[in-house]
Formats: sequence, C-alpha cells, structure tokens
Amino acid sequence: MKVKIDLHIHTCYSYDGLITPQELVFYARKHGLDGVAITDHNRIDGALKIAKETHFLIIPSIEISSRSGHIVGLNLTEPVPRDLSVEETIDRIHELGGLAVACHPRAFLKSSLKGNVSQKFDAVEVINASAFPFKRSVKQAQKIASSLELAQVAGSDAHYAPEIGFAYTTVEAEPDIEEIVKAIDKGLCQPFGKAIPLRMRLKREISSFKARFLSKTNGSCSNH
Ligand SMILES: [Zn+2]
Ligand SMILES: [Zn+2]
Repeated sequence: MKVKIDLHIHTCYSYDGLITPQELVFYARKHGLDGVAITDHNRIDGALKIAKETHFLIIPSIEISSRSGHIVGLNLTEPVPRDLSVEETIDRIHELGGLAVACHPRAFLKSSLKGNVSQKFDAVEVINASAFPFKRSVKQAQKIASSLELAQVAGSDAHYAPEIGFAYTTVEAEPDIEEIVKAIDKGLCQPFGKAIPLRMRLKREISSFKARFLSKTNGSCSNH
C-alpha cells in the first residue's frame, strides 16, 4: 500500500514553531495524511512526547543545524548535537539508526547545505513547501538528487498548522514507522507538493510575532 507522509514539520517545541500537538493531528488528518515526521530544530523531546501521546503515526525526527547547513535526521530516539560537520552529523544519525535527509538544499533564506550534499545522505528533500523561490529550489534539488541517485522526499516545513501537508511524500509501505523508513531508504517513495501561499505565510508571521512578543512562553506549547 501507499502512505502519505509530511516529512518536515515544526511544533511548538521548536523555538520558532507554533503548532500544538492537537493542531498537528487535526490538520494532518484534515489534509489526508497518514502520518508526519516532527522535525523540531535541534531537539527531539517534543517529538518523542507527542509520538507517545497520540495514536496518529508520528516519526520522531530532528532538524539539526550542522556547521554547513540544516540536516534532517529521520526516525531517531535521541538528539544529534548541533554545530558538527556535515560528515559527522550524518555518521551520528546513522549510528542511531536514522536516515539523513538533505533538506531544502538550495533554498534562499534558510540555512541550506548548497554544495555539501553528498552520496552519504540517504535522501534529498526535493520539495519543501516553504522554500523560496519555490520552483527554482525544487528544480535544483531534483538535479542534486538525481545526479547522486538518492531517494527523493518532500515536506511542508510547516511552522503554522494550516501549512501542514502542502508537500508530502508517498511511500510504498504499510503504515508502520520501520516499514516506512526502510522503504524511503530503498527509494520506494515519491515527492509531491506545492508552495505555501503568500497569504498563509503572512498569517504565520503575524501569529509567530504574537507568540514571541505578546506571550511569555516561547511559541505556543502550554506545557513547556
Ligand atoms: Zn531548515
Ligand atoms: Zn525546517
């Protein structure tokens, strides 16, 4: 069977995310997803906690700030430290049994890997719904993935709940984390998605501003 998974989502546990666990599951179901990967910046505790507390399929993951750009570690149970080299970050992910994904390798205004994507990675995120400029980012990421013969995946990079599912990966697997990860590793997956509309991005910015400056908590998790 085929499952539909958004492989790049930030929750309120991410310093810049707004999505609460309830909103995450609500919007993921609403947008027809079978599962999501939670990829908060440099922390995995929120992802592990949410995965334990819900029946919805959640792949605990992390978006690591390596010295040369962001890297997603898919399916981990503990964090990988930030500020390591790309090589070492990938090695750590593999030692922990996860997959290393070169996320938004060519997007502007994001900490992108650019020329640092190698065959050491397990997959390239060719569609990132938040990438700018969208079409150019997709084209260039596809080029990188096909020249290195790496699996191609997609995710929304949502920080605001309505953005969930704007990009997703279909995976030829049963709805089970280990099966899904194995299938991605074999390249039995396909990226889909479109850019998050500008109007929604503006709403995200306004909500993010309010959350950061008008409330005492960082983001909107009530139980930080
Ligand atoms: Zn990123
Ligand atoms: Zn991200």
